Amino acid sequence: MYHVSDVLKHHYCPKLFWHLQHNASRPRQKFIQMNTSLSEVLVRKIDVQNPLIGQRAMPAEVCVNALRTGQPVINGRYEHDRLRIKVPLIIPTPEGLDILFTSMANSAKIEDQHYLAMHLWVLRGLGFDILRVRSMTFDGSVIRTEDFNPDDSFVVRYTFTKANGKPGGNITEVLLKYPLELKETLDAMDELMTLPERQMSIRECPLLNRCEYFEACFKTQYELGDRSIFYLTQSSAKRQLIDEGLRTLDQIPLDRLDGSAVQYAQIMADRQGGVFADKFILRHWLSLLQSPVIFMDFEWDTYGIPPYVGMKPLDVLCFQYSLHVLRGEELAHFEFLESGDCRLRFIESLLSNIPSEGSILCYNAFGAEALRLNELGRQFPQYQEALEGVVARMVDLAQLFTDGVVYLSSMRGAYSLKSVIQAIDPSLNYDQLSISHGLEAVSHYRNLANLDDEADVRDALLKYCKMDTLAMVEVLAWLKSLVKEDSHA
Ligand code: SF4
Repeated sequence: MYHVSDVLKHHYCPKLFWHLQHNASRPRQKFIQMNTSLSEVLVRKIDVQNPLIGQRAMPAEVCVNALRTGQPVINGRYEHDRLRIKVPLIIPTPEGLDILFTSMANSAKIEDQHYLAMHLWVLRGLGFDILRVRSMTFDGSVIRTEDFNPDDSFVVRYTFTKANGKPGGNITEVLLKYPLELKETLDAMDELMTLPERQMSIRECPLLNRCEYFEACFKTQYELGDRSIFYLTQSSAKRQLIDEGLRTLDQIPLDRLDGSAVQYAQIMADRQGGVFADKFILRHWLSLLQSPVIFMDFEWDTYGIPPYVGMKPLDVLCFQYSLHVLRGEELAHFEFLESGDCRLRFIESLLSNIPSEGSILCYNAFGAEALRLNELGRQFPQYQEALEGVVARMVDLAQLFTDGVVYLSSMRGAYSLKSVIQAIDPSLNYDQLSISHGLEAVSHYRNLANLDDEADVRDALLKYCKMDTLAMVEVLAWLKSLVKEDSHA
């Protein structure tokens, strides 16, 4: 028996589906914090009389029989032709099933139509007619007030929304018309499961080097190391080049490149022994930095239901920061970590520790820290001007790498701070920390108040955030050394 998510994985990459079926999957950390069950909210929002509550091990016939006798079913499990689904709420009516899905987003996204249509395929396969399909999502326009009812965070939607925010059609009509060839897909999945492994050509691989099974799937290509053509970024011709038998970056004819600065940096780094820097731009960028140079990083959690006044559904709450302040040769460190509604203390602590002058370096500044400060400014207008002043001094360190000003071949086409620092200084390794990535930090933070070893976890969280700003200090020193070496030559 397959779950609809298995079909989606197979649709995306059959080999990935095969790997996931044959290897124990790691528990996934939840990106959004939710203290309430969505189906409980759904039942409060839709008046449901005498429902059957589905359970994990309940035979599928129980839920089907309940629907056939006119009883609504919450979290029911249903099976048809090797496919098992779970539906948050179904209300049977004489005209057909009234189906309610839930979504952890601010709209019913049209991208989910394939996933939802598979649910209808199972229910229709069981002989049910469909009257209507709706989806309960967050209501992004709601702002929490003092007398807030958490259920007001949600709204029941009848229409899909496209990625550009425009209406994507009536949910019921779109799903009933959605074409599905599920029988053939399930047969292909069955066949795949009987094989020791399905061989894929590089051309078929949808993720190339961004998949954790890349080494397992394409060992010979992986063994080419930093020079592999796989790591060429933003290339429209990469698959074609690979198909033609090209294996390393130096084999690519220059007229087959797209001409982006990032690709140029990769090719030049490969030719120059592993490092490329446009020293003219880099020197200019460094010359614009004001002293003291401040390195800043935040950690935050995302809440489905807004937990505090002034917040909206899916807003984030910053619970931690790390600041390194470099004044000449002297490096000072400041940090903050609190739980609960620490927004005001976060702002006040940050403003008191950031020097009134100097450039503020963040990695991916305008996709992360600047957004957080602008949100806090809206929630606490008394600090808006001061926070906007911080944003105005921010400089994005990531941009040097993502714009192709600097590149190390050992970054292997990855542009995160972790990839950059491990290419520059492998001794600064996040894996040595007991908390080594952002979602892990969030998961520990969520349990902080309930842990016996709270002091140890606090310490691990502080070390993790401090590592990010320390890594930026190292990156800046390395960038300076690139232009210094040049002026000595
Ligand atoms: S490396 Fe490519 S082919 Fe292999 S599992 Fe990942 S996405 Fe699929």
